[in-house]
Amino acid sequence: MNLNSRTTRRKFAARCLAATGIASLLVLLLALTPFGGRVAAQEPADDDFHDSHLHLTNYVQEGTDIRDFLAMMGSRIGRSTVFGIPLQQQWSYQNTGDFAPTYYLQSDAPLYYYSFTDAHIATAYLSLSAEEQARLDPMITGFNPADMYAADHIRRVLETFPGVFSGIGEFTIHKEFVSSKVAGEVASLTNPALDRILDLAGEVGLVVILHNDINMPFPSPDQEPYLLAQMKALFERHPDTTIIWAHIGVGRVVRPLEEQASIVEKICTDPALRHVYFDISWDEVAKYATATPEATQRTADMINRFPDRFLFGTDVVAPSSVDAMVAVYEDYAPLWAELTPEASLKVRKGNYERLFDEARTRVRAWEKQVKSDQR
Ligand SMILES: [Zn+2]
Repeated sequence: MNLNSRTTRRKFAARCLAATGIASLLVLLLALTPFGGRVAAQEPADDDFHDSHLHLTNYVQEGTDIRDFLAMMGSRIGRSTVFGIPLQQQWSYQNTGDFAPTYYLQSDAPLYYYSFTDAHIATAYLSLSAEEQARLDPMITGFNPADMYAADHIRRVLETFPGVFSGIGEFTIHKEFVSSKVAGEVASLTNPALDRILDLAGEVGLVVILHNDINMPFPSPDQEPYLLAQMKALFERHPDTTIIWAHIGVGRVVRPLEEQASIVEKICTDPALRHVYFDISWDEVAKYATATPEATQRTADMINRFPDRFLFGTDVVAPSSVDAMVAVYEDYAPLWAELTPEASLKVRKGNYERLFDEARTRVRAWEKQVKSDQR
C-alpha cells in the first residue's frame, strides 16, 4: 500500500477505526505520520509535496498575494519557494496599441529586467509571521545575467533584506522565444558575468535555480547541441555552488534530446558534478516524462537510481487556487506509482528540505558575517 497517498491513508485509517477502536487508531496515526517526531507546527503532517519552483508573479509583475498563497498551500503543500519573474513585458503603445500584453508571446515589444521584483517579494515575506515565513523560501531573480554588476545586485539585495532569501532564480540564460526578446546584450553561458553570479552564490550558500534549454527550438537534424557542452563546462567551473537545472533543460518546443537519459546519468555519476540537481517542474515536462508507459518507466528508473538528485516543483505562475499546483502533482501520478517509497519522498520533500535548510543556515551566517565586518 502506498501510504504517501493521503486518500489511501484516510481509507486505511477508517477501516482500522472500525476494527480496532480509537486507542489503536491513535497509535496507528502516529506511526503513519511521515515525519515521525519531527512534525512541527510550521509543517502540516498531511502534506503531499514541497514546491521547489513557484512564481508568485507574472510577466507584468502582477500575481498572488502572499497570504492568499499560504492559504492555498493549506495542508497539501508543506513548503514552497517563492519568486517573481525577472523579466517585464513592455507595453509598447507603438506595437500593441490599447491591448495590454501580459505574456511574452503576445507582443513583439522587448522584455527588460525588473529588479524591483526582489523588493516586492522581500516586503511581502517580511509582512508574515515567523511561523508563516518558515514555510517559504524566497529567491532573488531581478538581475541581468549578462551584466558584470549582476552579482553586486544580489549582494545588495541580501544586505538590504537580511533574513529573507534562500537562493537565486529561477533565472534564464537560453529560453526559447524569450532570450532573443530581452533588451540589450543577449545572455550567454560563456559570459564571465554569469561566473561572477555563480561564484557569489557558492560563497554565500545560495541555491541556484537555472533555466537553460538543452537545445535550440528548431535544430537542423545534424546540428550539434552546443548548449549542452557549454552547460557542462559551466557546472564544472562552479563545483561549490548548488545548482538546480530547471526542467532538465526541456522546453515547450525544445524536446528532450534522444540521449537525454544518458546525459542525466552522466551528470549523476560524475563526482565533479555532485552539486548539480534537476527539477521536474512544469506540466510540459510531466507530459514528456509520462508520455508512454516506457517513458514513465525510464524516468522512474533514473530517479530510483539517483533519488537524491531530483526535486518536484510545479512552475505555476501567479496561482489563483491550489488546483494549479495540485494539477501538476497529479500529472505525475504514473511516475509516483513507479518510484520506490524512499525515492518518492525524497523527490517530493526530502531533497527540498536538505538543500533549502542548508541554504538558510549558510545564507544567514554569511549575512551575519557581512554585518559584523561592516561594524
Ligand atoms: Zn519557471
